[in-house]
Amino acid sequence: MKGSIPGPVAKAGTSPTKMGGWSTIKPVLKGKCNFCLLCWIFCPEAAISQDEENRIVLFNHEECKGCGICALECPTKAIEMIEIVAGKGK
Ligand code: SF4
Ligand code: SF4
Repeated sequence: MKGSIPGPVAKAGTSPTKMGGWSTIKPVLKGKCNFCLLCWIFCPEAAISQDEENRIVLFNHEECKGCGICALECPTKAIEMIEIVAGKGK
């Protein structure tokens, strides 16, 4: 399937945990992404997926626990962890 991510790890959106309820920071794509998918590989919550049309990395903030591993592993520093502002949604 075009744009799909190969690999044996959990499919994005299938995590049994919904960590987003208590996280205080969340990842956003701010810089230049080279589509290496290291963030997807390292995410412990399977909270990252890739848009099949334009290959943009997507974050599922319901399942993201705000650990920041994706931002640390990103080779281009394209991911920034930002504070979640109460009442502004995820
Ligand atoms: S902050 Fe952690 S849980 Fe959230 S998307 Fe990044 S690696 Fe996954
Ligand atoms: S690790 Fe960084 S460069 Fe690689 S796909 Fe994720 S956001 Fe893009």
